Amino acid sequence: MAVVLAIVNQKGGVGKTTTSVNLAAILAETGKRVLLVDVDPQGNTTSGLGFDKKSLDRTTYDALINDMPIQDIIRESGRPYLSLCPANIQLAGAELELDRARDREMTLKFAIRPVLDRYDFILMDCPPSLGLLTLSALVAAQEVIVPIQGEYYALEGLTQLMETINLVKRRLNPDLGIFGVVITMYDARTQLSAQVSDEVRRYFGDKVFRTVIPRNVRLSEAPSFGKSIQEYDPRSRGAESYQSLAREVIRRAEGSGT
Ligand code: ATP
Ligand code: MG
Repeated sequence: MAVVLAIVNQKGGVGKTTTSVNLAAILAETGKRVLLVDVDPQGNTTSGLGFDKKSLDRTTYDALINDMPIQDIIRESGRPYLSLCPANIQLAGAELELDRARDREMTLKFAIRPVLDRYDFILMDCPPSLGLLTLSALVAAQEVIVPIQGEYYALEGLTQLMETINLVKRRLNPDLGIFGVVITMYDARTQLSAQVSDEVRRYFGDKVFRTVIPRNVRLSEAPSFGKSIQEYDPRSRGAESYQSLAREVIRRAEGSGT
């Protein structure tokens, strides 16, 4: 059965998508069967893997709103072991339409259920909000990965995120846990990054991955070529850091027995 992880942080631009795409790509390269679910109407995960967002005929929206079987939406990414459930701006409508539906937070959980045994990992890239789409991912997930940007106000908003996770735990998904916290865009030259890293480690303890993702321009260039960092520049510091993160993720997943 797949380890189902939501990549969440309602703060924008902290590295959710970069982490989703590159972690998924590297896990797949090591032979893990991976499904990447784009749960963000921005569709950055979808375009980051090289898909044209405008020309998708089936997306995550159809799974949530039209009860379309996810097997009919999932596409092969063109890379061994890596599949994608794509999204685009249409998904923004799902937030409103789901609002009126019964069991609205459960739809994504039900949608992925038929494919749980086809993958080792299912990663869900969430939008920068705590709206219904993120909530759906929190209900569908076993655990969350929280990317935190190594900058001064990184901890701002985390209380709200933890409250939301706890609320989902109490009401809808009792087993939801924190799989790990990853510090992203770390700049070793600044005192600030070191301070943030200390603070995050004080707050989350050993939930924080030992791997820290550095600020690396190659990571920001890769998506415009529709490539993961492995395809774009596998020897860059960015690639090495995500390779190291993937090893930690595999170790944790195997350790937890899920
Ligand atoms: P959103 O909340 O809008 O979905 P996000 O949390 O998914 O954003 P990303 O899109 O992954 O964040 O990253 C935001 C921007 O920072 C992107 O332009 C991305 O290419 C860049 N970026 C992410 N991680 C790094 C890094 N380690 N080094 C340099 N640039 C990075
Ligand atoms: Mg994103």
